[in-house]
Amino acid sequence: MDPTMNELYREVILDHFQNPRHQGVLDEATLTVDGKNPLCGDEIILHLLMDGDGVREVCWSGHGCSICMASSSMLTEAVRGRSLAYAQDMIQAIIQMMHGKGISATVEMGDLEVLEGVSKFPVRIKCALLPWTTLQEGIRSYQRGDHEHASFSY
Ligand code: ZN
Repeated sequence: MDPTMNELYREVILDHFQNPRHQGVLDEATLTVDGKNPLCGDEIILHLLMDGDGVREVCWSGHGCSICMASSSMLTEAVRGRSLAYAQDMIQAIIQMMHGKGISATVEMGDLEVLEGVSKFPVRIKCALLPWTTLQEGIRSYQRGDHEHASFSY
């Protein structure tokens, strides 16, 4: 393990990496979205059950570094059962935070605030953002009327 990464492995990130939430495929998914970060080798898939203007369920599968996997786990907890508008506000808040612009007051960041520590390591920002940019692409695709598959790559 890269010794400079140690301070990133705050308790919450480690917990999500070791005990990932909602990991696996979702049989009733109506939309799957692939996300790839070639820079690090992160490859994840979001499995979404969309419901009108909301995300009823979301699971994730794939593999990646600990930051990417922890962020994917946190994403599923943050957006399941939420409206698309809320999910989009959340995505924007995460992108803003990861670019060092602070924490938004418009959404409940909760555990996600720990990802702010990752913003000090530019090479890891894309790892943390991958599930969020992948979700963003999925929502765009859904809103265009494609309810089956979408993909995102840096
Ligand atoms: Zn990564």
